[in-house]
Amino acid sequence: MIRPGGAHAEAVVRLVEWFGREGADLPWRRTRDRWLVLVAEAQLQATPVARVLPYYARFTARWPTPADMARAELGDVLAEWQGLGYPRRARNLHAAARVVAVDGWPDRLTDLPGVGPYTAAAIRCFADGEDVLPVDTNAARVVARRFPGGWPGAPGRGWEAGQAIMDLGRIWCTARAPRCGSGCPLRDGCPAADGGTAVALTPARRPQGRYEGSMRQRRGALLRELADRGEVDAARDPEAAASLVAEGLAGARGPVLVRAR
Ligand code: SF4
Repeated sequence: MIRPGGAHAEAVVRLVEWFGREGADLPWRRTRDRWLVLVAEAQLQATPVARVLPYYARFTARWPTPADMARAELGDVLAEWQGLGYPRRARNLHAAARVVAVDGWPDRLTDLPGVGPYTAAAIRCFADGEDVLPVDTNAARVVARRFPGGWPGAPGRGWEAGQAIMDLGRIWCTARAPRCGSGCPLRDGCPAADGGTAVALTPARRPQGRYEGSMRQRRGALLRELADRGEVDAARDPEAAASLVAEGLAGARGPVLVRAR
């Protein structure tokens, strides 16, 4: 139970109650399994929910446990990841599966490949039910605006509060157009809305470089072809091919790029 104690704790109660009524029904919210939560978190990084849904369904059907993915070749995981972008996430997920399959989950989750403080907190909150708020860009923005003194915590309701903050940041308390006056469940007593500072309190985003013609695009083209055909002539783009091999996203057989194992 959340014990009421001050205006901010009361706001957290309201947030949790709102989530109970209107929280989005998403497949990764129907599980408390660490692996399934990790798959979701890896896919959701910098990627909209709607885009992730079919990938999450395919991944969790094909590799429902870390042991299942650990047995797969990395090239198969990367092929299934095609179109989601940032393939390092798939490589790290595969590497984490192999660690967990052999040694189990480490005490310090950040010891897993690709698991930083945010993802570790997400596993603790969304799988283990701990009262730990995973702070990504959305959550940081909501906390900065609504809880300027810091997140007050949600004893016994950490899972709901964490999920609610995600929905609030995605739908209501957005970066450029917060919907303060359109029914935001935390409007009453919101310091940023009262002070008209919501947009000013948006943390700066790193500008994204052009995708067209970028190394990211060139590497993506090679990976797509690898997924389709199993190998590709590295001479097509030696620089991009070399960077894929250096990162373990592809293997090399002489002058031919092959799927990573
Ligand atoms: S009232 Fe506005 S600034 Fe405050 S939490 Fe809601 S959307 Fe964000």
